[in-house]
Amino acid sequence: MSFLDYAPAPESRAILSLRPSYGLFVDGEFVDGNGPAFTTISPATEEGLTEIATADDADVDRAVAAARKAYDRVWSKLSGSDRGKYLFRIARLVQERARELAVAETLNNGKPIKESRDVDIPLVAAWFFYYAGWADKLDHAGLGPDPRPLGVAGQIIPWNFPLLMLAWKIAPALASGNTVVLKPAETTPLTALLFAEILQQADLPPGVVNIVTGPGATGQALVRHPDVDKIAFTGSTAVGREIARATAGTRKRLTLELGGKAANIVFDDAPIDQAIEGVVNGIFYNQGHVCCAGSRLLVQENVHDDVVERLKQRLTTLRLGDPLDKNTDIGAVNSAEQLERIRELTAAGEEEGATRWSPPCVLPDAGFWFAPTIFTGVQTSSRIAREEIFGPVLSILTFRTPQEAIAKANNTPYGLSAGIWSDKGSRVLAVADELRAGVVWTNTFNRFDPASPFGGYKESGYGREGGKQGLSAYLAPAGGIR
Ligand code: NAP
Ligand code: MG
Repeated sequence: MSFLDYAPAPESRAILSLRPSYGLFVDGEFVDGNGPAFTTISPATEEGLTEIATADDADVDRAVAAARKAYDRVWSKLSGSDRGKYLFRIARLVQERARELAVAETLNNGKPIKESRDVDIPLVAAWFFYYAGWADKLDHAGLGPDPRPLGVAGQIIPWNFPLLMLAWKIAPALASGNTVVLKPAETTPLTALLFAEILQQADLPPGVVNIVTGPGATGQALVRHPDVDKIAFTGSTAVGREIARATAGTRKRLTLELGGKAANIVFDDAPIDQAIEGVVNGIFYNQGHVCCAGSRLLVQENVHDDVVERLKQRLTTLRLGDPLDKNTDIGAVNSAEQLERIRELTAAGEEEGATRWSPPCVLPDAGFWFAPTIFTGVQTSSRIAREEIFGPVLSILTFRTPQEAIAKANNTPYGLSAGIWSDKGSRVLAVADELRAGVVWTNTFNRFDPASPFGGYKESGYGREGGKQGLSAYLAPAGGIR
């Protein structure tokens, strides 16, 4: 921290008025859950925010029945342009309530307000606008004339981008004529419940979207439900595997968006200052709780020392603290459980001989915090080079030739994303061609656009979200299910 410090600039919480408790959202209304209610907290302070209902198997069954009824009687009978009108309305309401949603997201997730305000919520609106435009153009989705929705989609999402992952799931499902039962992550249900209020404001027909809160068991009930036609999941590879087993041999279609261990490759001809910004954004954005985070920095050996030096200088300027402060760069880790996992893996990194460094920074007493951390001298066999840490931790490795960079980048069970930093276009294209990753960014990182498909290779999952490709996860050709 420098001697010229910033004055606090907290975003006001006054815009957000939470109810003391929230029910499940089933058939257009908030209803009680059968399971025990639980308190959802702010990970930055551990302060309780509100009470959340837990859906048991019977509640999930009610939600699926509501989705089925809405599918049969209303949603599958509407024209595409009428579905589109609802989606446009939802997009506009998200924009109208953007500041409130950003404050709620930051409170419940721990991410800096400048990220929820400038990235998460604008992208949520963008996703609904984008798929609203597709609703009456499905004949051009690449599946032949008059493609058909699948029916009831069960959707399970993680805690790192709570409302944005909801948008990635719900917008294409509704545009293509499906109805939805969505389970948010246990630690971040808040914005999904505010979104349910938006659906009421938008007069979305009851049952088209249902939201069931609760722990992993609620997700399991949704996966196993016999009347669900499709499961879309984003989260850990371990749970993704379990879901693949549970749906194997059933008629359920499945898309999985799982973890990653992306390589961010810096060549010696890269614009180094820009690359440093991209590396910082790649791994410290959202506290590193990003499936496509650039968690492995591969830097060409002859510029390694320079890059590491400049990176350290840059990290000393990052501000960690109150996520609601508009100047905060690094917020809170989302949960005690995730903090424990980050601590365990970073301890393993030291034990395996890598050199650990963090800028001087004071961690708040309450809440869950982890200082931005880099490891140099990392071996490819080390756990911190292989396992997803899902925290603000960068593992730095070196390479000498493009071939070595490619081999190291691909030496992972994952394949979600990668980054390349180089001034030379031909090299960028040649390397990108060899990387087994669903998304390759060049001279930038962590950029998202609803028109661009996103998804993985290998253990990062299958299926694509975003773009025209994202529609095919919710549609079948007119002749029937492929
Ligand atoms: P997770 O357990 O896979 O959670 C993802 C979602 O699945 C949550 O809604 C979760 O509910 C639910 N769930 C858990 N067990 C389930 C089951 N057996 N059947 C159906 N749904 C189930 O992920 P996590 O525990 O939050 O994080 C663990 C690790 O996963 C992280 O350290 C990170 O490496 C990785 N991760 C990846 C992503 C990504 O975007 N690819 C996102 C988050 C985490 P609960 O919230 O109630 O557990
Ligand atoms: Mg979990």
